[in-house]
Amino acid sequence: RAKQRGRDTFHIFDPDHDRLLQVRHEQRQRFIVALKNDELRLHYQPQVDMRSGEVVGVEALVRWQHPEHGLLPPAEFLPVIDATSLEVDLGEWVLETAMRQLSLWSQNGIKLPINVNISPTHLLVSGFSQRLAALLARHPDVPPRMLKLEVLESAAMHDIQSALETMAACQRLGVNFAIDDFGTGFSSLTHLRQLPVNLIKIDKSFVRDMLSDQDDMAIVESVIYMANRFKHPMLAEGVETLAHAKALLALGCELAQGYGIAKPMPAEALPMWLSDWPTREDWSALTH
Ligand code: C2E
Ligand code: MG
Ligand code: MG
Ligand code: MG
Repeated sequence: RAKQRGRDTFHIFDPDHDRLLQVRHEQRQRFIVALKNDELRLHYQPQVDMRSGEVVGVEALVRWQHPEHGLLPPAEFLPVIDATSLEVDLGEWVLETAMRQLSLWSQNGIKLPINVNISPTHLLVSGFSQRLAALLARHPDVPPRMLKLEVLESAAMHDIQSALETMAACQRLGVNFAIDDFGTGFSSLTHLRQLPVNLIKIDKSFVRDMLSDQDDMAIVESVIYMANRFKHPMLAEGVETLAHAKALLALGCELAQGYGIAKPMPAEALPMWLSDWPTREDWSALTH
């Protein structure tokens, strides 16, 4: 017993562990400064209909313009704030910024919906749908259907009842949902039936190797089959080549996003990209 307690005590005062907590604390403090000093940026990645080449929307992806380390991708800082209230602060900033961008674009004749990634912590925070309603009310010039929320299957799994209620409340406001990284969570197929979603996003990890790996191809085929059965529109992530686009189209997946179409870009670069993007005719020549 004493020995056991001795071991626990040793563990609690583990200097490496203390150091780790200290580093995490400092990283979080630095992120708070980033939010305060306006160092975060949203980049936008186009989503297209592969039948026509029509651009149907964009996904907002956060970056950190760090004064010393340059432009950091989310993988460099999201883990630091995982499951903390900073995820809610970030999420509120992203939503507000996306709404302002929608407002700006609509003044300039660009009518593209923005998909925003919502973390599980943020979706499940109490009052999420009320705050979303307030956000929409602050931007009366932006129709709610121009904002789409991407949630992970795992967000719903966490607390399925709360997630379903929140999602239904948001949908009553006119805001649609996409399920992100579909296929990477558990019991995906059950969710397809249950979740109030308007778009299924097939995870890029399956898309990447679908042309060379039979198992990944089987997963992509099954997801497309099931999504079609439940009449959910679907989009393939990580479409890097024309061969991927053609194969997905042949399987019945019509929407796509990926480096083969465009990399995420700052808002200022989008008008130029839109004017360079192939016309309907160019696109059908490519894919048929
Ligand atoms: P996600 O939502 O699944 O976003 C797709 C990721 O795949 C993005 O990475 C995008 O740049 C990348 N991607 C797009 N096309 C291709 C492709 O053809 N090939 C490859 N290899 N990758 C491609 P990014 O921007 O680094 O974001 C990573 C993840 O971070 C996102 O995955 C999302 O889960 C999270 N994230 C990004 N922005 C936000 C945000 O504003 N809020 C929250 N909560 N999470 C975010
Ligand atoms: Mg996403
Ligand atoms: Mg995804
Ligand atoms: Mg992902």
